[in-house]
Amino acid sequence: MAPPATRRGFIGGAAAALSGPAARAAEPGKSRLILLGTGGGPTPKPNRSAPANAIVVNGAVYVIDCGDGVARQMVLAGLRLDALRAVFVTHNHSDHNADYGNLLLLSWAANLASHVDTYGPPPLKEMTRLFLQMNAYDIATRIADEGRPSLRKLISVHEISRGGPVMADANVRVSCALVDHGAVKPALAYRFDCPDRAIVFSGDTRPSENLVRLARGADVLVHEVMYGPAVDKMAAGERNAKTLREHLLSAHTTAEEVGRVATEAGVKTLVLSHFVPGGPGIADAEWEAAVRPHFAGRLVVGRDLMEL
Ligand SMILES: [Zn+2]
Ligand SMILES: [Zn+2]
Repeated sequence: MAPPATRRGFIGGAAAALSGPAARAAEPGKSRLILLGTGGGPTPKPNRSAPANAIVVNGAVYVIDCGDGVARQMVLAGLRLDALRAVFVTHNHSDHNADYGNLLLLSWAANLASHVDTYGPPPLKEMTRLFLQMNAYDIATRIADEGRPSLRKLISVHEISRGGPVMADANVRVSCALVDHGAVKPALAYRFDCPDRAIVFSGDTRPSENLVRLARGADVLVHEVMYGPAVDKMAAGERNAKTLREHLLSAHTTAEEVGRVATEAGVKTLVLSHFVPGGPGIADAEWEAAVRPHFAGRLVVGRDLMEL
C-alpha cells in the first residue's frame, strides 16, 4: 500500500510523461479509443494482455471488458483509474471478466470517489456482491485506516439480457445487440456513439447479423478474430482437441469472415483484436493478408496500448 500522496503524485507523473494522450484528452468532445488488451482466451500470454478496451471522452473513462490485468494496462496507457465512469462486460468468459471486480477495487484504492455504473449479462449482480464479500476485509480496513468512501455505495450494477439502448450521458450513447457466442448466452456487442464518431465492439461471436445491424455505418469496428489455419494446429496440441476445435469454429469469427462482416456493415475502420491464437506465432502481415481480400476500408491489426 502506498500513502495516498505518493499515489496521486505517481498518477500525475505518469499522465504528464505521456504528453500526446494527455493533450488529446484535453480536446472537448474528442473520443479516444485505447486497446488495453488484445489477446483472445484466458491463458496469460507474453505478447498480449487479456481482452479490454477503453473509450475516453471529456476525461471520463469507459471500460469495455475486464480481462486479467485491465487496471495495470490502464495505468500503462496513462489513464486515471479514478476517472472510471462505467464498465461494460460483453459476456461472462473469464478472459473478459477475470478482473471485473479487481478493476473496481483497485480504482477505488487509487482514489476513485465517484459513482461507477457497470453493465453486462447476468449474473453480474451476484458476481459483484460476492466479489465485495470476498474482499470485505481489505475494504473495511481501507475505509477505517484511509478514510475512503463505501465502495459498495459507489457501484450500480445493471444486468442486460437483450439488445437495445444501454445508457446515455453527456459524453456517450451506448446500445447493444445480442451476438452468437455458442453456449454463452447472452453474449453482447456494444456500440458507443461518441460526440465525434461511433465505435462498436463485437465481443466474442461467430458471424452475426445482429452485429452487422448494430455496426451499420459505424466509424470503427473492433472485432474479434481467429486465424483458421492455426486452429487445427492449436487444438491438436490439447487433450480436449475435438471439443475445443468445435467450440472455436462455432463460436468465433475467422479472419476472412471478419472482413466480410465489416464490409456488410459498411464501417470505415476495422480493428482486429481478441486474436486467437494470441501468441507471437502469427505476423501482422498474415492477419492482414487473410482479411484484406474481403474488406477495402482502413484495416488495423490491433496491439496492446494502441490508441485510435
Ligand atoms: Zn474471449
Ligand atoms: Zn468468449
